[in-house]
Amino acid sequence: MAIAAPEQLNISEVPTWGSRGVDCFEKLEQIGEGTYGQVYMAREIKTGEIVALKKIRMDNEREGFPITAIREIKILKKLHHENVIKLKEIVTSPGPEKDEQGPLDGNKYRGGIYMVFEYMDHDLTGLADRPGMRFSVAQIKCYMRQLLTGLHYCHVNQVLHRDIKGSNLLIDNEGNLKLADFGLARSFSSDHNANLTNRVITLWYRPPELLLGTTKYGPAVDMWSVGCIFAELLHGKPIFPGKDEPEQLNKIFELCGPPNEDIWPGVSKIPWYNNLKPSKPMKRRLREVYRHFDRHALDLLDKMLTLDPSQRISAKDALDAEYFWTDPLPCDPKRFKSLNPFCVILYSKAVILFWVMKKSFLN
Ligand code: ADP
Ligand code: MG
Repeated sequence: MAIAAPEQLNISEVPTWGSRGVDCFEKLEQIGEGTYGQVYMAREIKTGEIVALKKIRMDNEREGFPITAIREIKILKKLHHENVIKLKEIVTSPGPEKDEQGPLDGNKYRGGIYMVFEYMDHDLTGLADRPGMRFSVAQIKCYMRQLLTGLHYCHVNQVLHRDIKGSNLLIDNEGNLKLADFGLARSFSSDHNANLTNRVITLWYRPPELLLGTTKYGPAVDMWSVGCIFAELLHGKPIFPGKDEPEQLNKIFELCGPPNEDIWPGVSKIPWYNNLKPSKPMKRRLREVYRHFDRHALDLLDKMLTLDPSQRISAKDALDAEYFWTDPLPCDPKRFKSLNPFCVILYSKAVILFWVMKKSFLN
């Protein structure tokens, strides 16, 4: 894993960042095992506030701080939006902690560095996998709208997430959804001229242009992943569960049709196109396979799962889709909040009163 030069870690830009110790928090339980660290639910001792602590894994980093963590911190520090997870601060632990074993090595950060996040009750994968769980249409619209709103904000701020999938979408008990895990995220320039790595995005959610080896790409890569999540919510399970890259591409082509210069101008120049293009004739079957989906849902899905990234729908345009403006409308988490028991009682009383008055009027 790449490491950072000392000056890359400008935590000191904000004096309070990194100045408090992790002992300001009481760890309650481990809630996730990430690719480069564990995640704990914890309580801030002074305020009682519940937070999530993500420990930055240092075991492979003999020489410095992992670049993935630097990226995540730098990017999250500049993003402030209700659909993007809030990084509250960084805390440190000077030496090995009680629950840590093994001798200290030459790494001066060995004690541990933690990112402190607002706590969210679930991630989308965990929630969807619950036995008997079925999301209503209004709920799916509500999650999709928040996912697109958060992603549109990232894209406007020239950040590509590059790992959109259920386990990185956090949801609280009020129905708020936030994008999390910016470990693979990076800034991009609007001309898409820089060469970026194509080994990003978890395989099942990876778009065809990355699987074909392109190194010049933009926000459309995240929109493909959003399409995969959308289809998964409607269908009840992942739609492209490939085992390896060739199988992944094959699953995509079987549903979305084969790529060619007519529907995707320039595709034949992408590095691995000639090796990986389909060998047998195929046609786009998306509308036929998912014909039982709601008409507006299918129209939107079709635009998200468009092979040519330059024709794929953007987050902004997706938010304007008919799907979000037709019945049942997406439920609004803010309205849930105001629906406290007091309001419910008042509302029911008003309905009963109206009904009684109507009856007596008719009599
Ligand atoms: P990784 O990059 O290692 O995948 P994540 O940031 O995705 O790390 O965290 C791993 C898991 O921990 C998530 O899938 C989620 O289940 C849980 N998690 C992460 N952040 C939070 C949070 N703020 N609140 C609650 N759970 C979280
Ligand atoms: Mg993750």
